[in-house]
Amino acid sequence: MPRPAIRFLLGLAIFAIPLVSFADEPKLKTENVIFVMLDGLRWQDVYTGAEEDLLNKERGGVANVADTKKQFWREKPEERRQVLLPFLWNTVAKEGQLFGNHQKQSVVSVTNGMCFSYPGYNEILCGFPDPKVNSNAKILNRNVTVLEWLHNKPEFKSKVAAFTSWDVFPFIINTERSGIPVNSGMKPLTGVEQTDEVKLLNRLIVENPFVGETTRHDALTYHAARIYLKQKKPRVLFVSFDETDEHAHAGRYDRVLGSAHKADGLIRDLWETAQGMPEYKGKTTLIISTDHGRGGPPLEWKNHSAKIKGAEFIWAGILGPDTQPLGEREKTDPQTQSQIAATLAASLGFDYCKDVPQAGKPLPGAIGAGK
Ligand SMILES: [Zn+2]
Repeated sequence: MPRPAIRFLLGLAIFAIPLVSFADEPKLKTENVIFVMLDGLRWQDVYTGAEEDLLNKERGGVANVADTKKQFWREKPEERRQVLLPFLWNTVAKEGQLFGNHQKQSVVSVTNGMCFSYPGYNEILCGFPDPKVNSNAKILNRNVTVLEWLHNKPEFKSKVAAFTSWDVFPFIINTERSGIPVNSGMKPLTGVEQTDEVKLLNRLIVENPFVGETTRHDALTYHAARIYLKQKKPRVLFVSFDETDEHAHAGRYDRVLGSAHKADGLIRDLWETAQGMPEYKGKTTLIISTDHGRGGPPLEWKNHSAKIKGAEFIWAGILGPDTQPLGEREKTDPQTQSQIAATLAASLGFDYCKDVPQAGKPLPGAIGAGK
């Protein structure tokens, strides 16, 4: 071969390399993310449905055992989880992915060592634990969440919003610094057109405190989020429900199941509402997870802390146009709560860990091709 021809071929080869690598990484379709959390819902309930040992008055505080069993008890765990969380199992498990079923060798753990709410929300939203975030007190978070990290990008300015039942979130997300609107607790919905629907919702929020004056019913949080989604069309919507945790602390397993089932229906409605809007249809990723686990029967299921065995285990689900339908992930390496923030950013095409090196890597195979 004459020398100019070799040079020509070498030149072609150099150009060919980036072409091949681009072909391997098609552009992601996700333009929006909806991230929903259910406080302290155990992986055991998610993957095996209602727990038999707790379907009674003595250990589970169940008020009407026959009714609760009729609604949530089935012989097979696959049927139990399906009646408890039909959207998760009919849609997310079929079209998306689920992590955290120990029976399939998929384990997701918190790494903050504290296994309660603020440290968990800090870890999941920032991508790393912080030993100084060690209480649920209303202290402005010194760490930047992935929500704030996105909000600081011009294309996400005023396009990130949070709706939460628990009123500590304005501090966790640090609204003062981040500028992200956080509608929580007993706060009325503002920043939207005050329609009759909004006025009624705002009355109901004030008139229906759930736990003292700090936490509201999840349905109120949900409808605030839904109205905002329809009116303001945020690109990142964070929704955090709380009833599952409150009912467990109160020792009412029947109500835990009822609230988990209700939240599953609200998430389905949110997903379907979004899919009915051109801004979201086919370009939205949904992530679902929890802040901590809890113990098991007979007593420790009510609580969670560093001292409660199993409270470190969580679960996560993901559904969207860039997530392969791998269903329940099996035999994965151990994953952590710290990986969710980077997963959320990755679905939008961003490398969070490049900017925040202490953050966990995205969940393997959750976004894009391959495992
Ligand atoms: Zn919690």
